[in-house]
Amino acid sequence: MDNLYSLTAHQLLDRLKAKSVSSEEIVDSVCKRAGAVDGKIKAYLVLERESAIRQAKVPASGRLKGIPVAIKDNICVEDELTTCASKILKGFRPPYNATVIERLKSEGAIILGRTNMDEFAFGSSCENSSYFPTLNPWDTGRIPGGSSGGSAAAVAADEAIMALGSDTGGSIRQPAALCGVVGMKPTYGTVSRYGLIAFASSLDQIGPITKDVYDAALLLGVIQGLDKENDSTSVRPKTTDYLASLDKGVKGLRIGIPKEYFIPGIDKEVEGAVKDAIALFKGLGAQIVDISLPHTEYAVPVYYIIATAEASSNLARFDGVQYGYRCGEPKDILDMYERTRGEGFGAEAKRRIILGTYVLSSGYYEAYFLKAQRIRFLIRDDFQRAFTDHCDLILTPTSPTPAFKIGEKRDDPLSMYLSDIFTISVNLAGVPAISVPCGFTKNDLPIGMQLISSHFGEETLLGAAYAYESNTDWHKRKPKL
Ligand code: GLN
Repeated sequence: MDNLYSLTAHQLLDRLKAKSVSSEEIVDSVCKRAGAVDGKIKAYLVLERESAIRQAKVPASGRLKGIPVAIKDNICVEDELTTCASKILKGFRPPYNATVIERLKSEGAIILGRTNMDEFAFGSSCENSSYFPTLNPWDTGRIPGGSSGGSAAAVAADEAIMALGSDTGGSIRQPAALCGVVGMKPTYGTVSRYGLIAFASSLDQIGPITKDVYDAALLLGVIQGLDKENDSTSVRPKTTDYLASLDKGVKGLRIGIPKEYFIPGIDKEVEGAVKDAIALFKGLGAQIVDISLPHTEYAVPVYYIIATAEASSNLARFDGVQYGYRCGEPKDILDMYERTRGEGFGAEAKRRIILGTYVLSSGYYEAYFLKAQRIRFLIRDDFQRAFTDHCDLILTPTSPTPAFKIGEKRDDPLSMYLSDIFTISVNLAGVPAISVPCGFTKNDLPIGMQLISSHFGEETLLGAAYAYESNTDWHKRKPKL
């Protein structure tokens, strides 16, 4: 019999339905697996075995009944440590569940543990965690990507059946690509942000990290939906069941290839794998069209102005008064603010607070923040024009390179910022995108391709990703651990 931990959620759901396994056996298998390999990978900050077993014993029903799901450490789980992998939230136990956690629970899912991440989701490598870096299951000398590196590594190493991540500029898709799993950022507003500790509120979106596209469609259907009371940016979805339209195929679908995404500097093996994927789509009956997204070159600078501006404002609340860490023996309130923040935030968080405060300060607001907002709309218009006039989907690499070595970019923030060059525009435009495994380098490192659709085009997106996956085996490969 296969090891239960190595199966997908839908395979396990079939077995649960047939009563050939129990939810407790699944949890036990996944926890044993994590116990055996997490010393090497360090995907988890906390693995709550006892609590997971307790949850598994409670009779449940629903679309994810009995399936253990790992949760990125920036999503609030009631009474469980939730720290954003930051010292400043050390000891913080939220008094409530994020909406996504409520939705998972109401569909019978089991909350498994908290996965490591870059502090406050600032990063592309998981090296900015205040606790320890997570390592890539395919090569433990390399980073798993970030910021949802813990979630992606946990799924890739079979330490979780599925996981939640958050994506502000690529943090679900890039680690999914680098770990050889599926990662999806839904249309902005599709999934409630209530209980997601904010990084950049106009860009953040929670989404699935899974072993295959079917599971991504399943998980998205569970976590999405209008949350009128708690998140005014949430919207009513077009459908609640993405599984129904999964196998509609790609015949006649127009797939746009943006010339700005195939640039010098992109790794040759990544480029080769993505070009093979384009050929496969053509073979399946899709029509490949050349397109242009002319404002792509501004995406990274625009993102780092808007994202840091919003982050500097969102992080103002961590001052030692209400949440987590407080410095020892403050002289007065100012001393408490200064030392709590000085001691609590890591280097990248400080860098972003300083940058964000600067671009918002009077005198610079118009020159930087307002200008960036204007260019953001041009970037969104590029996508809208492409989808109105030329294509149904856009295909690009997810990351310009496969997983890089631990430490390689740690001291070079600008080169780290370029890891998200292909994912950032999607957040600025608010459109959905998915990263799907599409090959391996000769050193056995996973490569991912990104599919992008227009706002609320999740069904088309998932359908195309599923068609690709059904005709390839990349997603079935497992790291040797
Ligand atoms: N790597 C990008 C950043 O550092 C994106 C992070 C994210 O999506 N949370 O901001």
